[in-house]
Amino acid sequence: MSATSGNPFSTSGNWYRGSVHNHTVASDGKHSVSELSKWYQNHGMDFIVITDHNVVADVSKADGLDITVIPGAEIGVCWDEAYGAEVLSLGIDTVKRKGVHPQDIIYDVLEQGGLPYISHPHLSGVYSGLMMELDGLVGIETYNLAGVNMGCRGLATLHLDDLMAVGKIVWGLATDDRHVIGDRPRAWVEVRAESNDRKALLNAMRQGFYYSTTGPKIKAISFSETYIKVECSEAHRVILSTLPWLSKKVEADADGPVTKISMPLESIGSSKSVEAFTQRLIKQEMLSEPKAMRPHVRIEIDDGRGGFAWSNPIPIP
Ligand SMILES: [Zn+2]
Repeated sequence: MSATSGNPFSTSGNWYRGSVHNHTVASDGKHSVSELSKWYQNHGMDFIVITDHNVVADVSKADGLDITVIPGAEIGVCWDEAYGAEVLSLGIDTVKRKGVHPQDIIYDVLEQGGLPYISHPHLSGVYSGLMMELDGLVGIETYNLAGVNMGCRGLATLHLDDLMAVGKIVWGLATDDRHVIGDRPRAWVEVRAESNDRKALLNAMRQGFYYSTTGPKIKAISFSETYIKVECSEAHRVILSTLPWLSKKVEADADGPVTKISMPLESIGSSKSVEAFTQRLIKQEMLSEPKAMRPHVRIEIDDGRGGFAWSNPIPIP
């Protein structure tokens, strides 16, 4: 089986649970690296990333704990008229620049083997068109708990769909953006990696071998020649987001919640429908030239009780 980027169920490895956006006393968080790491360890996390504002905290302070702690930062950027935009940078050892264009930050992060994500685009007012221009972007934060709590602008799956529609495939990310310890972790990633260490985890995430969740589980995503199959924990609704007008949903009915679906591929997007869509984008000046676009699908699980899980965009064979 050859691994398909974006689909953790197409590759081998173990599952590791991680919280990847966290602040400590090194910036505006309330706890030390070791306090926060210990709390996450006690709440079932296998790894965390510390992402203080514009500074990389010393994660060696968590040594001796049974949780992998990866250094990172959330770096402020200056981006046209957009305000408060930041690049969530996973797996870096130093902040080389801040307050410059996000493209420069992205290159700084990639150079260190890190993963650059745009933090909470909806909260920051970063519209999709700006992100379409970025080279080397690994993903965007599609669920940010702090944003959800602050003003209901924590969700950015729409931005991911916008990017997917013009053939810019990046990954989503669900995070706590934690500053204070609470009752329990609320949003995290489930990563399929060879081992629970910095290199293996970042390598897996770079290829999109994870899904994001606030609780619900995605158990399998597979393709036959003509069908896509999804298995999940009990869902009220399973959404298959592809292109406008082609996205589909399967809902719970009198037989009970949805735990398994099987959908004909031709109903969610064929190369023909993508070609027609590409022509429309060119007409609307969203694309300048015909581009060989491969249809992708993004799976969203809604448990009907406020819990969601989100796959990354996966190419439809
Ligand atoms: Zn933050």
